[in-house]
Amino acid sequence: MKEIRRKILKDVRRAVVKVGSGVLTAERGLNFSVMQDLARQICELADRGIEIILVSSGAIASGMAKIGLSTRPNSVSQQQAAAAVGQSSLMMAYEEAFGRYGRKVAQLLLTRDDLNHRRRYLNARNTLFTLLKWRIIPIINENDTVMVEEIKFGDNDNLSAMVTNLTEARLLVNLTNIDGFFDKDPRTHQDAGLLRIVRNVDRRLLKSASGIPGFLGTGGMLSKVKAAEKVALGGVPTVIANGLESNILIRVFEAHDVGTLFLPKEIPLCSRKHWILFTMTPKGKIAVDEGAFEALVERGKSLLPSGILSVDGRFSMGDAVLLTAAGGREIGVGLVNYHAGDVRKIMGARSSQIEGILGYKHEDEVIHRDNLVITYGMEQGEGVCHLRT
Ligand code: GLU
Repeated sequence: MKEIRRKILKDVRRAVVKVGSGVLTAERGLNFSVMQDLARQICELADRGIEIILVSSGAIASGMAKIGLSTRPNSVSQQQAAAAVGQSSLMMAYEEAFGRYGRKVAQLLLTRDDLNHRRRYLNARNTLFTLLKWRIIPIINENDTVMVEEIKFGDNDNLSAMVTNLTEARLLVNLTNIDGFFDKDPRTHQDAGLLRIVRNVDRRLLKSASGIPGFLGTGGMLSKVKAAEKVALGGVPTVIANGLESNILIRVFEAHDVGTLFLPKEIPLCSRKHWILFTMTPKGKIAVDEGAFEALVERGKSLLPSGILSVDGRFSMGDAVLLTAAGGREIGVGLVNYHAGDVRKIMGARSSQIEGILGYKHEDEVIHRDNLVITYGMEQGEGVCHLRT
C-alpha cells in the first residue's frame, strides 16, 4: 500500500488542497489555530518545491458566526450575504497565517461561467500560473455573492476538481472533518470501515457515499467522491483526509497511510476534453440515429448533419451540447460548429448540402471528433461518469 502511495506521490510538484468549512470553522467562527497549522504545512511543502493552490470554503460558515446565525440560512440571498461578510474575514485570517511564514496569498473568486469560456478559462489559468511563479499562494473560493443556479459550481469539491484540471495539478487533497471515505457513515455506524484505497468509483461506492452528509459545507461525502472521480478521469489521484489531524498534509505528501487514496485512470482524458466534459455547461441536446450512434461510439467519428434526428435548446457556435441516442442513451458532450437554428435546418442533410441550405459553411461536421467526449462506455461500465452532477 505504502509503495503505491509513494509511487503516485513522488513526482507531484503541483497540488490542489481543498479545505472544507467543517475543518476551518469552530463554534465561534473561524478556527485560527487550524488555519495557522495548515498554513505552516503548506509553506513547508512550498519550501520543498511543491506548488500548492488552496481551494477554501468557510466564507458562509464564518459569516454566519459573525452575524450570529446559528443555522445555515436556506435563502440564497442570506447565504450570499453571509458569504460576503465571511469571505473578507477568511482572507484576513489567511493573510495573517501565511504572513507568519513570510508567504503572500492571493484571492480568486470564481463562478462556473468564468471557466465556461475557453478564453476566460485560459486567462484564469495564466493568472494562477503567474501567482505560482511569484511564489504566492492562490486561495480560491466560489464567488458566492453573485452566484445563481446557472453559473454555480455547486460546491467547492466540484470547484476543486475544475481547478485541478485548470492548473494541471498532479494531486487533489480534499481535507474534511472525517478520516477519509468510509463504507458507512462513521458517525452513526460503529462497524464503519475506512477505505484506504479506491481503484474505481462504481455505483455501489456512490451509494454508500450518499449516506454520509456534511454539516456545514454543501457537498458532503458524495460530492467529494464525485470530484475524485472527475479528477481521476483527468489522470490525477485524490486523497480525502482529515484536515483536523495533526500534520496531515505533510503526512499525505510523505506517503503515510492516511485518508483514502483514489487512484487515477490509466488512460486519462486530455485537459481540453476534461474541460468540455466537466466544466462547460451544455446549452442544448442533439439526438442522433443508430448509424451516427455507431459511428461516434464504435468508430470515433465526428458528428455529421445526416445522423441528426432532433435538436433541443438554444445554443451558439462553440457551445457545449449533450448528444443522445434512441431510448435516452447519453452518448457524450461536444462543442458545436453551428448554432441551434442552423443545425435544425441542416439535420438529415449531407455535408455537401450545407452551403446550399444555409448560404455558408463552417465545417462539414456539426461536431468535430476533437471537440467531442464520448461518455457512453463510461456509463455502461463500472466507472460511473455522470455528465452533469
Ligand atoms: N463557497 C462556500 C463557502 O465558502 C462553501 C461551499 C462548499 O463548502 O462547498 O462558504
